[in-house]
Amino acid sequence: MASKAITEKWLGQLTHLPTASGREDEVMAWVKTWVSRRADLKLTIDSGGNILITQKGRKRWDPVTAVAHMDHPAFVVSEVEGRSVHYEFRGNVNPEYFTDARVEFRVAGAAVRGRVAQHDSESGVGVVRLDRAAGLQPGDIGMWVFRRRSVPTGRFAAPACDDLAGVAASLAALDRARGNAELRHFSVLLTRAEEVGLVGAIHAARTGSIPLTSRLFSVETSRELPQARIGDGPIIRVGDAMTVFDRELTNLVTMGARATGLKHQRKLMSGGGCEASAFGLFGYRATGICLALGNWHNRGNLSAVEAGTGEAIPMTEEISLDDFHGLVELLLVAAGAVDGVDPQVASLSRGYEQMRRYLT
Ligand SMILES: [Zn+2]
Repeated sequence: MASKAITEKWLGQLTHLPTASGREDEVMAWVKTWVSRRADLKLTIDSGGNILITQKGRKRWDPVTAVAHMDHPAFVVSEVEGRSVHYEFRGNVNPEYFTDARVEFRVAGAAVRGRVAQHDSESGVGVVRLDRAAGLQPGDIGMWVFRRRSVPTGRFAAPACDDLAGVAASLAALDRARGNAELRHFSVLLTRAEEVGLVGAIHAARTGSIPLTSRLFSVETSRELPQARIGDGPIIRVGDAMTVFDRELTNLVTMGARATGLKHQRKLMSGGGCEASAFGLFGYRATGICLALGNWHNRGNLSAVEAGTGEAIPMTEEISLDDFHGLVELLLVAAGAVDGVDPQVASLSRGYEQMRRYLT
């Protein structure tokens, strides 16, 4: 069983890998190596490149599947003309962040930097002028140059917590579940191209990459809200910006978390959409759990930028480490809780029997 230190090592490695929608290759390679070291796990790749990791052996229950996405908003090189690099930015970031922004590409392990010279916010395409000529190729990935800052104790900051922290938490939970035959039905689905419209998840749902009997948990990082703070525990997500989630699943996880005393929050995280919406809308039973995230999509100062009062500063994303470890625990609680019965039905019926006299 992985210690907290090992889990944090996975978190650190995954959240620093270059990745973008449709260009998740390095994350996929990391995951394949991780799975290949565990003979009791089975990795399958669907026709869209999503990775499903299941445990071998007989299962007592229908699948419980943690879903996390392997991409993050980033620059993807489309064409190179000398020091001018044409890019497509894949993901949702306000135009203010592109003005004169510094961008870093990695070429054969070395960093090459440049500055955004042109950006079209409608199409997401633009041009970076490199500081020096470099052998960039179409498909190479660029990331912001982040302002240096100190990270408070207990916090973790990295370029791509969204959603590589979700990937790390899902794999950590799977690693823990392996030791428990009661949790052999727990599996992990790692998707692609979430940031350009939940594309990998929709593909998995529409093509039936996972059984329709699966109970799904979208494992995410989600914009910190005044009522859902970083450090206040992992969040059972009752819905997102698009829709509400499966009532029974959400209730069972909440009951499970309350029964174990695990520190948690239960919130509507309306900052953005997540893959539970895609699976739910295409006929699966799905809910979400997440971490409150600072500097969502690397947008430092976001609230001030949205209000038109502050400077757009690209920053690393930030989560609480205690929330992260709590998220791993919450996933295991969820896997154990979903085959129970929601006690609230019986409790409401008892109350009704005692109080129905008021209706006469
Ligand atoms: Zn995102």
